[in-house]
Amino acid sequence: MAEQFDVVVVGGGPGGYAAALYGAAAGLHIALIEKEKVGGTCLHRGCIPAKELLESAHVFRTVAHAAEFGVDASAPTIELARTMARKQQVIDGLWKGLEGLLKGRKVTILGGTGRYRGGGSVEVDLADGSTQTVEGRTVILASGSVPRTIPGFDVDGRYVLTSDEVLSLDALPKTAAVIGAGAIGCEFASFLVDVGVKVTLLEGLPKILPGVDADVANVVVRSFKKRGIDLRTGVRVTGHEPNGSTTRIQIEGAESVEVEKVVVSVGRRPLSESLGLDGTGVEVDERGFVKVDDTCRTNVPGVWAIGDLIATPQLAHVAFAEAIVAIKDILGEAAVPVDYGRVPLAIYCHPEVASAGHSEESAREAGYDVVVSKHQYRGNGRALIVGEADGLVKVIAAKGPDGRAGQILGVHMVGPWVTEQLGQAYLSVNWEATVDEVAHFIQPHPTLSELFGETVMALTGRGLHG
Ligand code: NAD
Repeated sequence: MAEQFDVVVVGGGPGGYAAALYGAAAGLHIALIEKEKVGGTCLHRGCIPAKELLESAHVFRTVAHAAEFGVDASAPTIELARTMARKQQVIDGLWKGLEGLLKGRKVTILGGTGRYRGGGSVEVDLADGSTQTVEGRTVILASGSVPRTIPGFDVDGRYVLTSDEVLSLDALPKTAAVIGAGAIGCEFASFLVDVGVKVTLLEGLPKILPGVDADVANVVVRSFKKRGIDLRTGVRVTGHEPNGSTTRIQIEGAESVEVEKVVVSVGRRPLSESLGLDGTGVEVDERGFVKVDDTCRTNVPGVWAIGDLIATPQLAHVAFAEAIVAIKDILGEAAVPVDYGRVPLAIYCHPEVASAGHSEESAREAGYDVVVSKHQYRGNGRALIVGEADGLVKVIAAKGPDGRAGQILGVHMVGPWVTEQLGQAYLSVNWEATVDEVAHFIQPHPTLSELFGETVMALTGRGLHG
């Protein structure tokens, strides 16, 4: 009789590998099916390589401004092959580590494409051309997502690229247009301009960074413009016409833009079609997302779906959280659903953006009467020391019946290392702490994180510096 697993996980990205690791740590017997390398988009074509390249841009900026600190260095230049080699070294190190962790926990990894067959069966097309059926008591679908494309911009790897291709460029173009100013578009635009590429950033909506607080997005806009990014919002691109080494992008009702490369970053779509769900009863919505309830159960008993495959924020850490929820549910433990309105957000463009909870706009829309406090990094000692004084911390609190600020509903930050400062803000929001409770705690001095403490303290009506 075929080996029976407790859980068969389809897809080895952050959702799938976290389910495998967490499940195995709880003693479950797990099979993990992955068609490429474990680690998925995040490790091989997403978060990790993108942040690695942004770190090269950071080093470049630091060297370019070294003279301000009394350090003389020659003007920086970038050798992309070495940048890419370092990026690959980081990826490979993490990939080997992840494989080791999975093996150490006795997870059976099957290299191939998995197709759900109903019940607890998953058929795997193995790399050697053969097929194997894997049986599980339960199944977790975690096949992730792929970049969306738009009409008129077929991805050809020469002129039109998605994040997949940008992350393995072998030479920097002189000019590039980025279509879509979401997290991916802003991170690439930021990297490219910092390493000397002339960048045009084209966004369909009136505002960049959807879902990000307007005050925070405006700081990014100002910095992008100051660094020479030609940012155009509210535009409609209709197609492009190659002409030798460049291509001309047509924009409805506006002048066209000629560039060497076009980066399309207009969102990602779920990769559900290759899972063979037709006829299995697993419900998929009109956009291709697998439908789930709040503990990630699909409508078919014994089958869960997590990560970018479901219509929740497409973030690796959300996939981790969903993996834990699904495994706890499989174990019969009380699984606390993910609170999607309060997940942390971290965007690594320069300046960085980080947030948790309501923006001022969304809090008002949700019917809250709010009190808001904003403090700028230019008043923070450490920010001046590191030479990055652009940015702010904004705290949104609920207004109590006495008119005073009460529960912290949201924290939104833009500026130096805010992705690393978000932790205590995230805890405050998710612990449903009040401004009085948080203001009581001491922030070390001099640190960037003092600005969060200061912003909260101001909401008690008695600030120190602000
Ligand atoms: P996104 O949905 O965040 O942003 C896409 C942007 O493209 C939007 O601003 C949208 O208005 C714009 N757009 C769509 N069609 C357009 C068109 N035809 N012309 C011009 N603009 C158009 O998607 P993304 O940036 O591609 O990222 C995909 C997913 O991955 C998102 O969920 C994102 O949050 C996530 N992600 C997160 C991070 C991070 O948090 N650091 C990094 C990368 C990706």
